[in-house]
Amino acid sequence: MDPEDPTDAFLIAAVDYCTGTLGLDRDSLIKELADAVIGGYYPTPSRCLTNTEAILNAFLQQTLFGGAKVPGGTCVFPTEGGSGAMVYIFESLSHNRLLKPGDRIAIATPIFTPYMQIPSVKDYGLVAVDVSSTAENGWDIPEEEIGKLEDPSVKAFFLVNPSNPGAHALSKNTLARLAQAVEKNPDLIILTDDVYGTFAEDFQTVYAVLPYNTILVYSFSKLYGVTGWRIGLIAMNGNNVCDRLLSELPEEDKAHLRDEYSIVTADPDGMPFIDRVVADSRSIGLYHTSGLSTPSQVFMDLLALSHLVYAGAGQEDPYIRLANDTVRERYLALMDALGLETDDGAANTR
Ligand SMILES: *Cc1c(COP(=O)(O)O)cnc(C)c1O
Repeated sequence: MDPEDPTDAFLIAAVDYCTGTLGLDRDSLIKELADAVIGGYYPTPSRCLTNTEAILNAFLQQTLFGGAKVPGGTCVFPTEGGSGAMVYIFESLSHNRLLKPGDRIAIATPIFTPYMQIPSVKDYGLVAVDVSSTAENGWDIPEEEIGKLEDPSVKAFFLVNPSNPGAHALSKNTLARLAQAVEKNPDLIILTDDVYGTFAEDFQTVYAVLPYNTILVYSFSKLYGVTGWRIGLIAMNGNNVCDRLLSELPEEDKAHLRDEYSIVTADPDGMPFIDRVVADSRSIGLYHTSGLSTPSQVFMDLLALSHLVYAGAGQEDPYIRLANDTVRERYLALMDALGLETDDGAANTR
């Protein structure tokens, strides 16, 4: 290792960060990375490699939590991009009877167009309820729209934050209002797609405010310009509403699911929802060959660490700065050419 070489210097700083700040064991970390990058074994544990989960946790904490300390620990399942994450989550919510045909699910609109179709396709039979934002409101969700979530017949709330196409993050007020709505509807499952989180200054994910109720989806695709790699993740709290709802299912549903998952675990009743998502991603039977390819997990580690080595030292990440400045430059040029007023608020992902 030559500390003068920029690649070596990064790897040295990354390992120092993992051992010093995250407290990971150096030998275990290096063995995991070396084995994983060769791709000689099935991913083990299949959900997420052990040190990788700690690194991805730190990345989410630094980029999306807005300084909040989330209790309970965050479990991660790396997936084939954010799209893969969404498909897996809807499949498992439906398969595990947490969402049933006829259930109402709220969707923060306007939304990434392909997502509009998820509730109606594949016989999920879900009924969509719009929770709308508009340009007049700075693309934040108004109080009365959030109020729709207080109705216990609304089983899930699905949002992209910062929004696409609105390109704005939810305000702190709206996050607080959402927390109030969840007090009235404590079984609400929130599914948040935060792929643009790092593009808003001062961002805080819904997961950091409502970790018990929220399933978080993140993707490296947009920030790092790596859509072809297919790398994203599902994150859920160790203590979460889905696991409670599973334990409260009618005995008939439980018996059916017990029978199915008993193929792959000795304790099907106690199998956490996120592990069911992993099993379902391979139709349960092929659970032992599930999990994201190990070289892809290493690539996620490297991208995450390229941020963490700066964040850990209390420094601004020059890559994220450059990415945001570039987007801002283009936004200003576009608005100027169109003769439109610019929005300089921190919630705008410009
Ligand atoms: C691009 C995009 C995705 C897809 O992410 P992949 O990781 O490339 O699958 C998901 N959500 C939103 C809002 C996006 O804009």
